[in-house]
Amino acid sequence: MTSPAVPQTSPEALHREVLEVARALIRFDTSNAPESALGRPPGEETPAAEYLRDYLAAAGVDCELVARDPRRANLVARIPGTGAAGADGQPAPSLAFVGHLDVVPADARDWTHPPFAAVVDEAGWLWGRGAIDMKNEVAARAVALAELARTGFRPRADLWFIAVADEEDGMYDVGMRWLLEARPDIRPDLAINEGGGERLPLADGRVVQTVGIGEKGTYPVRVVAHGEAGHASTPDVGNNAVPILGELLRRVGRGMPTHVPSPLVDRILAELLGEPFSDLDGGFDGGFDEAVARAARLHPVLAHTLPALAGTTMAPTLLAGSGKRNVMPARASVELDCRILPGTSAADVERAVRARLGDDLPYDLEWPEHLVAGSASTPDSDLMAAMARVLSASGDDATLLPMLGTGFTDSVYLREAGTPTAYGFSPFRATSAEVITAGFHNADERVHIDDLALAVDFHLALARELLG
Ligand SMILES: [Zn+2]
Repeated sequence: MTSPAVPQTSPEALHREVLEVARALIRFDTSNAPESALGRPPGEETPAAEYLRDYLAAAGVDCELVARDPRRANLVARIPGTGAAGADGQPAPSLAFVGHLDVVPADARDWTHPPFAAVVDEAGWLWGRGAIDMKNEVAARAVALAELARTGFRPRADLWFIAVADEEDGMYDVGMRWLLEARPDIRPDLAINEGGGERLPLADGRVVQTVGIGEKGTYPVRVVAHGEAGHASTPDVGNNAVPILGELLRRVGRGMPTHVPSPLVDRILAELLGEPFSDLDGGFDGGFDEAVARAARLHPVLAHTLPALAGTTMAPTLLAGSGKRNVMPARASVELDCRILPGTSAADVERAVRARLGDDLPYDLEWPEHLVAGSASTPDSDLMAAMARVLSASGDDATLLPMLGTGFTDSVYLREAGTPTAYGFSPFRATSAEVITAGFHNADERVHIDDLALAVDFHLALARELLG
């Protein structure tokens, strides 16, 4: 690590600063949902972006607001790299601290403390919409960048800070996807974003911290059962499509996947079980399902996530049948919310759905949306190695566990645009995985303020480790 040119801010002062920034960000109501649901335009992230611009500019960081819609600005800040070679003679990779400024809506009636008041309670919890997703991380990354600038840190390659609008909805395309298209100069080699850092004490005594290395994609399908209309007073006449759909739904069940070989998922299982494994090379003793079952027993969070990573999930959600109670319909349908592993094609999804439904009943498949591919970065990267060094230097005994997310993040757009290594990580210690999961997109979202401090320290050390 390099010595800073001027004295560093004391840890206590830095930790007060990150709390102040996180609270200020939570107080901007950046709820992002269609105007019809919110009663006002979605997002309105610009005041939050302006606040961060002013905060970072005061620390001497070059900042700009880049907006497709003036009410929905993205903040781009950068400490320019010197281009200097490291001890190994190689140039450093450029690094981006990434986050989004919008949040999902909150209904104050369901909350212990008002969702946009940023209350800190006596036990040290900061309550509010965005406390976990992800104004906590945005604040920590901004404060780390400000501190690096104030202390005269000269990174060997560009250090970016990108805080975007419109991640939670994306309908208006004013956030990360648009920004990367509009600004081809923003192409960091490495990015740290949301989607990991949960600390999981395992049943076997080990402690792991998740790193989001990728995300599943989506390809919803509508299953339309075909029958023949008839009057409901004589159920045997005609061929009611609803019981046909009922049988198709029975075959879909809860929509848990049929196993598809995936080196990424095998890697996750191997790390958890502590044995080398590739499904392609012959597999674990007892097979894939047994391996998932054993790994799932290590932590309740894993029991929920791992089985869904076996392949294409197809949870049945939207139902449609007759428009009139006394008419048995000729058509009845269900939409399956399919979540797909990186590398899964449209033909793969269709095959998986048809295999589940069989071919002895009359039905059609319709595809209401385009396939949105999942993507992943390799877990074997300089970034992963640097993160592990930083955590162990801080005295943390947890090991990093590569994990595939079941939801969407802007890392998908970063990888598409040419950032090969985009991970989700910010360390949590005082905030358990259970608290994170309970508050995520839900009422009573909260983070322990010690974790804001922990995250600042981690990002400071990571920048110095990679770019110093
Ligand atoms: Zn988020």
